[in-house]
Amino acid sequence: ASAALEEPIKPSIQVEHTQLLIGGKFVDAASGKTFPTLDPRTGEAIAHVAEGDSEDVDRAVVAARRAFDEGPWTKMTAYERQKILLRAADLIEKHNDELATLETWDNGKPYAQAAEIEVPMFVRLIRYYAGWADKIHGLTVPADGSYHVQTLHEPIGVAGQIIPWNFPLLMFAWKVGPALACGNTVVLKTAEQTPLSALYAARLFHEAGLPSGVLNVISGFGPTAGAAIASHMDVDKVAFTGSTDTGKIVLELAAKSNLKTVTLELGGKSPFIVCEDADVDQAVEAAHFALFFNQGQCCCAGSRTFVHENIYDEFVEKAKARALKRVVGDPFKGGIEQGPQIDSEQFEKILKYIRSGVESGATLETGGERLGDAGFYIKPTVFTNVQDNMLIAKDEIFGPVQSILKFKDLDEVIRRANNTRYGLAAGVFTKNIATANTLTRALRVGTVWVNCFDTFDAAIPFGGYKMSGQGREKGIYSLKNYLQVKAVVTPLENPAW
Ligand code: ADP
Repeated sequence: ASAALEEPIKPSIQVEHTQLLIGGKFVDAASGKTFPTLDPRTGEAIAHVAEGDSEDVDRAVVAARRAFDEGPWTKMTAYERQKILLRAADLIEKHNDELATLETWDNGKPYAQAAEIEVPMFVRLIRYYAGWADKIHGLTVPADGSYHVQTLHEPIGVAGQIIPWNFPLLMFAWKVGPALACGNTVVLKTAEQTPLSALYAARLFHEAGLPSGVLNVISGFGPTAGAAIASHMDVDKVAFTGSTDTGKIVLELAAKSNLKTVTLELGGKSPFIVCEDADVDQAVEAAHFALFFNQGQCCCAGSRTFVHENIYDEFVEKAKARALKRVVGDPFKGGIEQGPQIDSEQFEKILKYIRSGVESGATLETGGERLGDAGFYIKPTVFTNVQDNMLIAKDEIFGPVQSILKFKDLDEVIRRANNTRYGLAAGVFTKNIATANTLTRALRVGTVWVNCFDTFDAAIPFGGYKMSGQGREKGIYSLKNYLQVKAVVTPLENPAW
């Protein structure tokens, strides 16, 4: 655990791209302004990045609109677009290590996770949607009367996309993959904490032959650049991933401007339910992973660990031992399971929730404080005796803080698991298929993982019930987000008039 105190390991590459990518060119912000992007290991600047604002969003939308209206993107065959996406995936695969390095440097996640999970999933997702590009088509519709009726599935136009900092590359892929496969053009804003990897990835799309203006990337802040996208009159659709509060703002801006369609992937407080008959060792490991993966910075984190009373004591003892064993340190070092939190704001917020847990009477089993005195490292923290009405059981903490709650029977745990404004995901651990079926049907969430957690695949849809969002991303479901349906009605014979 002392790894965090050592000198930070020097990344193996230099930062190449810090400008905005508009109309196929790297350019400065219109204002000339820049902002520092920080290394979460130290809090010090990695690079200064162009700060996009509404004027830059305007420029990017003009470029995207032109690329949509005039082509060549929308004039290409679907097969040509598919080949460009497949070439982009090949290049991303080839530059796996550079992308993973930028990701770890900017975000603080363990390098092995960036290199072996996030970038490969990026590649897989782009290939998955490339596969769809030439398989998108409408229907022939049997209408009453003598009409030939068909539907055309057309791209929506300019898609605005606003992404968060917890999985910068994966969120880029979830957004850009389906949008481009359906033939849209894109203006994407990265999170201000993590602008670097998307600029590099977008360059690779251009090297793969993506025409200028099809994919524009703006670095910048939410209330300025982000709001400019959400409220732009010439953006046809906005897709947002981030907090529920910001999602409400985005929906409101979209409604007040041009009623652009909106997809939202927002916060969560996902239950992880360990039933009486579960294998305790496996459940402990899965519950640990469900919460602590990615420094606890997952919208679907299993942040309410419900454990049946008959196995509660054994589970608690083992969960605590597992958290104590978790290896925290410099994310560039081999064998590290947990790096620093993203920034000082999140770091302070997490420590505040930990204090609130203690003050409200939960038992702090382990952790509960920062690790080292530099950067944003937090010790893996486990609370037991957590009650439903405590803030740590209600709010999204977005950090390495596990809350363990005790339950007696299924009806009770269903009621308590659903008693939240969120509905993103749930984990269920049981050997009994009837119990699994009961829980999967009763839980009001977008994903239920049974005897597993965080199993992501390009084909599996992801999204939330209730205040966890609107719409689904990934899989066939995401195509709908980026397509319009046009009905074309033609009389079979010349009308009599
Ligand atoms: P977090 O609290 O985890 O940083 P946010 O929801 O604030 O989550 O951020 C997610 C994304 O939304 C980021 O790209 C951020 O810049 C952007 N954002 C923040 N505020 C706004 C806003 N008012 N309008 C549009 N986008 C915003």
